[in-house]
Amino acid sequence: MRLLVLPFLSLLIAHSAYAWGAPHHAITRAAVEVLPAWQKELLAEEAIRLSDNYCLIPDNVFTDKGNAKFAQMDSAPGEVYLKILHLPTQQPEYFEVIRYFMERAVRSLREGKVGDAARYMGTMCHQIEDYGSPSHTVPGDNMFTLLQQFLPPSAAMQDQLMHGPVENGDFVVGIAEYRPVCLGSTVNEASWRLMHRIHEVILNARSTTIPIMQALYAEDESSVVTHQLRAAVVDAQVVADALYTILCLGAERTEEAERMVKIGKFVPLEAASLYYPQSEFFSAPHWGHPRSGVILADGKTAMPLKLRLESGEQEFENGISGGMGKTLTFLLPRDVYRRFTVRAGLHPELGAKGRVEFTISGDGKPLTSVILNGSDPARLIECELPNVSRLQLSLTSRGIDAKSAYAIWADPALWK
Ligand SMILES: [Zn+2]
Repeated sequence: MRLLVLPFLSLLIAHSAYAWGAPHHAITRAAVEVLPAWQKELLAEEAIRLSDNYCLIPDNVFTDKGNAKFAQMDSAPGEVYLKILHLPTQQPEYFEVIRYFMERAVRSLREGKVGDAARYMGTMCHQIEDYGSPSHTVPGDNMFTLLQQFLPPSAAMQDQLMHGPVENGDFVVGIAEYRPVCLGSTVNEASWRLMHRIHEVILNARSTTIPIMQALYAEDESSVVTHQLRAAVVDAQVVADALYTILCLGAERTEEAERMVKIGKFVPLEAASLYYPQSEFFSAPHWGHPRSGVILADGKTAMPLKLRLESGEQEFENGISGGMGKTLTFLLPRDVYRRFTVRAGLHPELGAKGRVEFTISGDGKPLTSVILNGSDPARLIECELPNVSRLQLSLTSRGIDAKSAYAIWADPALWK
C-alpha cells in the first residue's frame, strides 16, 4: 500500500533500519479490518490512529514524547527505548512484557480510556510485528553481518546493511478471510497463549529471511515481496488475535476459552531462542533432541507417536518424543491451569526392550514419577499443579539397553 500518512514518512525513513517501517501500518491495518463491527465501533477513530500512528510508538519514543510512556514499563523506570519490544530475548522475559502491556490495555478499556488502551495496543502490535519481521530473526545478528558471511552478498549489495532491504517494502497485506480468536478469559491466560502464537510468527519469519536475501541479491523484486508477504500475513493474523482478545477482555465479552490446552507443540525453555542448542542434544536412544509429533527410529526415520493402551495401540498427533537424561520445561501462567495430564509410555516396537523412568516436576520439585517397561501399557498420569510456574518432564533410562529407550509423552495437556 502506498503510504497514506505522509506526515510520518520522515520518521519511517529515520527508523527504517530498526523495524518493519512502512509495513507496520499495512500489517496493523489488515488486522484491524478483520475485527468485528462492535469492536471497530468501540475503538471508533482510534482504530485509524492505531494503524497510522500507535503501532510505531516503540520506534518513535524519542520523537513522539507524548506517547512514549505507552511503551515503557514500571519495572524499567527511566528506560525510554525498550529493546525487548523489538527483539525477542528469552521466554520468561518477553512473556512478562506481553502480559504487562495486555494488562494495561485491558485495564484502560475497563476504565473507559479507549485512547490509552489503543496506544498500549499499538505497542503490542509493534512487538508482535517486529518479532515476526524477516529482519529480526537471527538472535544477535540484527544487521546480518554474520549471516552475510554464510551468504555472501552480490557485488551490488556488498556494502549494504541488509536489515532495511530485507523487511521494508511497499505492499498491501490482506487477511480478509481470517477470523480472530479469543485467546483467554483472563489476562494471564490470554497473554500466555498469545506468546505461543508469537512463536509461530517468529518461526514463520525465519523461513523467509534467506529467500528474501537471495531474491535481493538476484534483484528479483517480486520474489522479495512474495516472501515478505509470507511473514506479514502471519504477523497480521496474530496481531488480529491480540487486538480481538484485548477488546473482548476489556469489554468483558469473553467467550469461554477451552478448558484444556494441548502443549505438545509448544516450545520449551530448553529451546532457547526457539531452537535447541547443542547442550540439549542427547545420546540415547539416539543422537538427537526432543521432537514434537513424531519419534525418530535410529534418529533418522520419522514415525508416528504410538502407544500401547489397554484398548489396543493408538497413534497421537499431540505429543513429544524425548531422550534420556534430558528435561523439558514449560513456562506456565499464574493461577490459570490446575491440572496436567499426559500418557507416558514406550513405543511398542522401537522401545520393546527399553525401561524408562518418567518424572513430572513443578518448579524443580518432583510431583510424580513412574517406571515403565517397553512391554507395559502406557500409563495415564494426572497431577495437580499447585501454583506451579514451570512444569518439567524428565526421562531416565532404567534398563540395560538405553538404545531401546524410545519414550513418548502423549497428549500432554493443561486443564483449568
Ligand atoms: Zn521496532
